[in-house]
Amino acid sequence: MTEKLFRDVEYNYNLIEERISEAAAKAGKSREDITFLAATKTVDVEVINYAISLGLRYIGENKVQELLSKYEGYNLNDASLQFIGHLQSNKVRQIVGKVDLIQSVDSVKLAKEVSRQSVKNNVNTDILIEVNIGMEENKSGVMPEGLLELLDEIKDFENIKVKGLMAIPPICDSKQKISKFFSKMNKIFIDIKDKKIDNISMDILSMGMSADYYEAILEGANMVRVGSSLFGARNYGTNA
Ligand SMILES: *Cc1c(COP(=O)(O)O)cnc(C)c1O
Repeated sequence: MTEKLFRDVEYNYNLIEERISEAAAKAGKSREDITFLAATKTVDVEVINYAISLGLRYIGENKVQELLSKYEGYNLNDASLQFIGHLQSNKVRQIVGKVDLIQSVDSVKLAKEVSRQSVKNNVNTDILIEVNIGMEENKSGVMPEGLLELLDEIKDFENIKVKGLMAIPPICDSKQKISKFFSKMNKIFIDIKDKKIDNISMDILSMGMSADYYEAILEGANMVRVGSSLFGARNYGTNA
């Protein structure tokens, strides 16, 4: 059973690597320009560590409790741990110092708390700003029109560094539709990069999941977050 799972993960890993390389080439980039982060929710640490042994270098959890319960088990000598899920301010202190980057900062309040806890722990924390690119109600992320103001308010916060943007577009019924959202994100990313705001670097554009990471890379993503295509379908959830 575990043997089979490991074989599947190895097969999937190589396939995803190939597709990332192919998409990168199509986008006029090289493989090294794209970061492959594995979304590891519900995946056992031994399986995560197996993927790390294959060459995986970035992992991301989306729930604080799950991250903490698996934390001692990850092989973090060879991989960087990030937080990619919705984060409540009152849980920030539990992960600051443990994660290299938080992808899902979407408010001044949250950024302030990441800053405060980072100062307290004498660490620097890299963050991405999550953008609600589909402008969906009840979804995380700052609205596109509020992004500049948010950046301006947090740019001088101590011990945090904005490294780029992250987005989860709406569920779409076609590749064309989702590509439009990716393209819109890329445009925002480039616009902000061109503004050269002090203390804000636009290095990372994190978008694209199992179903659409190829399209995301074509539209400018340089980090993709892939879960089920690597580890197999989770036994819950809607995004297969
Ligand atoms: C689960 C998750 C992913 C990966 O989703 P898949 O469809 O399984 O590839 C990416 N980003 C976030 C924030 C996630 O929670």
